[in-house]
Amino acid sequence: MSETFTAREHDVLLVVDIQNDFCPGGGLAVPRGDEVVPVINALAAKFAHVVLTQDWHPRGHQSFASSHAGKKPYDTIEVAYGPQILWPDHCVQGTPGAAFRDDLHVARAEMVLRKGYHREIDSYSAFYENDRKTPTGLAGYLRERGLTRVFLAGLAFDFCVRYSAEDAHREGFEAIVIEDACRSIDVGGSVAATRDVFRSLGIRCVPASAIAA
Ligand SMILES: [Zn+2]
Repeated sequence: MSETFTAREHDVLLVVDIQNDFCPGGGLAVPRGDEVVPVINALAAKFAHVVLTQDWHPRGHQSFASSHAGKKPYDTIEVAYGPQILWPDHCVQGTPGAAFRDDLHVARAEMVLRKGYHREIDSYSAFYENDRKTPTGLAGYLRERGLTRVFLAGLAFDFCVRYSAEDAHREGFEAIVIEDACRSIDVGGSVAATRDVFRSLGIRCVPASAIAA
C-alpha cells in the first residue's frame, strides 16, 4: 500500500521539538535524533504551512528527576494529574540545550509553539499539557487559520509526537505521522503502545517518500 500525499493549502507540517537536548550529546538525547533534521528540512519545503514546537521548561521543573530527592531519570512518580515519568534535566528556558538545532532550516515556519513552561505540569502534546486539561492554544490557532490536516514529524515518536497526534485527532484534525522523520526513546514499551494507539484511532504512519513535492 503506497499512498501519496500532496500537501495542500489546508495542511500543516508540525515539527516537534528539534532541539539540541533531544539530539545526541544533549540532556535527553533521543538515539539518532539528529538524523531526522535533513529529512524534516526537505519535507518542510513541500508544505505551505509549518509550525515548530519547542519544549521550554523553567529550572526545577516537576518532570526533572533532579527536582525530587532520591529519584532517578526514568522513575515514575504520582503527581496531581497521575503518573509522570521523570526525565534528565532538558530544554531549560534560554539554555543552548533548548535551542533548535543549527542545521534545522525552517526559517519559513509561521509559528513557534512553546510548551512545558508551567513548573508543575509537563507537556508532551503540542495541544494539551499532561493534565489533559490545559490547552496550549494550538487547536484554536489551526482552526482560526483553516488548517485541517496535520502532518507530524520530530522527537520523540513515542512521546511528544504520539501525544500531539492523538490530540490532533481528538480535536477533529486529520493526523498523519511521517515515521522516518521521527525517532523514539522507547521506555517501558512506549513504541509498541504508540503503534497500538495509532492503530486504534486510525492515525496513519507514512514514510517521508509518500509526501509529494
Ligand atoms: Zn520536556
